[in-house]
Amino acid sequence: MSQFTILVVEDEEAIRSMLVMVLQQYDFNVLEAGDVAQAQLILEDTLPDLILLDWMLPKVTGDEWTRRLKSSDNFRDLPIILVTAKGEETDKIRGLDLGADDYVTKPFSPKELISRIKAVLRRSGKIHDLTQIKFQDIVLDTTQHCVSIANSEVEISPTEFRLLSFFLTHPDKVYNRTQLLDQVWGRSVYIEERTVDVHIRRLRKILAKYQREEWLQTVRGFGYRFSEKNS
Ligand code: CA
Repeated sequence: MSQFTILVVEDEEAIRSMLVMVLQQYDFNVLEAGDVAQAQLILEDTLPDLILLDWMLPKVTGDEWTRRLKSSDNFRDLPIILVTAKGEETDKIRGLDLGADDYVTKPFSPKELISRIKAVLRRSGKIHDLTQIKFQDIVLDTTQHCVSIANSEVEISPTEFRLLSFFLTHPDKVYNRTQLLDQVWGRSVYIEERTVDVHIRRLRKILAKYQREEWLQTVRGFGYRFSEKNS
């Protein structure tokens, strides 16, 4: 039920930013690294669900790192999609058994990339249906941007949708207003903290129609939590 995290390893900044943007549009959490050394540091404290790995990297190349990860005990099950430039190494990849789970050739469309990622996540058993987020009888469809509660379609604005989506994928934890602003609105947007309260109230109103408002809890002095447990 949690959101998926993808580690993007790409030395060309413009391409890396493009990949990050595309992945975020499709609701993936993204970590980024410019080379294998940086990527390895990230792996020391976070385990992503998938690595999108450029083939041509300075020092340690993508194929070399793939071989290392796939022969290590800790990371052999971590899915890897190798990214190559057109014509570059495509035949070589096909011919070699690198152990990568798939590869994509630049230039590729965002749609192609996303469907490859979903296919790899599905094959690795990580997802059954990436488009749906469920919490009890609340079902949120991230492609259709619609929500149903107890089988009835709910009318919801884009902001409340994002807020609900965040809560459903991060249940039982308390978030303060600053954290919610960062996670739901993004750091680059300047919004006053009390705006969060406004949207929380609106979301609670929607939930109240289905007697689910007690799941969106105020934790006094801290912030908000989405939970079916009372405390
Ligand atoms: Ca490169």
